[in-house]
Amino acid sequence: MVEYPHLFINGAWVPPVDGELVESIDPSTGRPWARVAFGGAGDIDAAVRAARAAFGPWSRRPGHERAALLRKLAVAYEAAAPELARLETTDNGRALRETKADVGGHANSWYWYASLADKNSGRTIPIEDAVLAFTTRKPVGVVGAITPWNVPLMSALWKLGPALAAGCTVVLKPAEHTPVTSLELARLFEQAGFPPGVVNVVPGWGAGGAGESLVAHPGVNKIAFTGEGATARAILRNGAETFKRFTLELGGKAPHVIFADADFDAAMNAATGSAWALCGQSCALGARVLVQRPIYARAVEEFTRRAARVRVGPPLHEATHMGPQAHAEQLAKTLSYIEIGKREGAELVFGGARPGGDALAGGFYVQPTVFASVRNDMRIAREEIFGPVAALIPFDDEDEAVALANDSSYGLTAGVWTQDVGRALRVSSQIEAGMVWVNTYRYIRWSTPYGGVKQSGWGRENGTEALEPYLDVHTTIISKTGKFADPYAT
Ligand code: NAD
Repeated sequence: MVEYPHLFINGAWVPPVDGELVESIDPSTGRPWARVAFGGAGDIDAAVRAARAAFGPWSRRPGHERAALLRKLAVAYEAAAPELARLETTDNGRALRETKADVGGHANSWYWYASLADKNSGRTIPIEDAVLAFTTRKPVGVVGAITPWNVPLMSALWKLGPALAAGCTVVLKPAEHTPVTSLELARLFEQAGFPPGVVNVVPGWGAGGAGESLVAHPGVNKIAFTGEGATARAILRNGAETFKRFTLELGGKAPHVIFADADFDAAMNAATGSAWALCGQSCALGARVLVQRPIYARAVEEFTRRAARVRVGPPLHEATHMGPQAHAEQLAKTLSYIEIGKREGAELVFGGARPGGDALAGGFYVQPTVFASVRNDMRIAREEIFGPVAALIPFDDEDEAVALANDSSYGLTAGVWTQDVGRALRVSSQIEAGMVWVNTYRYIRWSTPYGGVKQSGWGRENGTEALEPYLDVHTTIISKTGKFADPYAT
């Protein structure tokens, strides 16, 4: 057992004042592997007070100095990345080969946000000669960052990076299932020399716990949230009392549209890869694979063939393609959706069960699963399963492809595969999603804005746009004459 008995508040490692020690479960065995301090309302209050006290000096610090600290963090992060990847894999079960690739690239993002810290400039606005009008950008204040368990380090980075670059201070509340790497991240902030209170990390429960306290706290100006829509609704209601601002990165049910003229092998590489990556626990998965009818049977065959090649196993093994689901409730959810799919009349052509064998007993494993003959009105096509379940839906023509793609309450990401440039432009521009990939998939970079429309969320992370939700616009108009007419003279 690894012990994490402290929270990181005001630059110090402190035991919780009204929290508890909670076991974190290794999803590959179902057994606890770490004991972690969870904070309560009192700990959140202490963290928010520390962040408030730190806000003034941090927000007034020249941007290039904040940038320099973020660059130090990036250097420390790069050195720690292999160990961070191992810990994240142990805590959430994502295959190490994936975690290494993801976490190994994070330093680039930290450098990116460092590069933005001294570019928060406003603009001058021409009106009349008699005045000069200009805007400046001011950080919104204390940010409560609430993250999910599927990509804990990436979610924290996508919030803390822009928040700190903008001059905000932060209280980070990681998901209860995966608190460990956020505490390790706090160590790196300490090592990089960030002033006390600028970054605080308080693991804890969501509803009824540290998460709820953070959203309700009057000292917090903004909540940056990644998670489920139902949680977002609860957070919006809770934050309304104190007029919080929000960015929301929510779920997805991405359409992966494959036309008959596509490069079939490349499309299959992308579509099967994205169906089972992160054991299906990614908001960006191409969960609805829309395939044009002439190649539909071939695509079903190919999905089935490739599913059989996926090596499901202990996530820390280098050879493993797909680890377990991150926790027992998620496994139960995935298995229940597989039953729903069968009852709805979809054709289960591969998987659908827990893999056998003693080596995997106790872990939250599930087979890569393929459903064919899926209709877009089935629940397995409409609701986010968050498991490795691909739903293959046939379509006839371009209009139907667009209609099916948009017939969803979600609008986060989408993929389009075609060799026809005109069609690529027509279809990609009509799909309601924050991000559309053409002849590629899950191409995500620090410099390209990422986020959803419809019930996939509000706001963007990454890109220069990521800074916007952390900045207020402050307008100043100065008279050049100093004269002001008497309104009652005549
Ligand atoms: P979740 O909503 O259950 O939990 C997310 C976080 O919210 C956790 O830290 C949790 O403790 C906290 N929380 C729960 N209830 C709360 C409350 N009442 N008040 C305050 N905090 C509360 O989500 P999850 O199951 O951890 O994550 C999976 C979801 O995240 C999926 O829907 C997935 O699509 C989404 N996601 C989206 C993106 C994106 O970029 N759009 C990225 C990753 C994950």
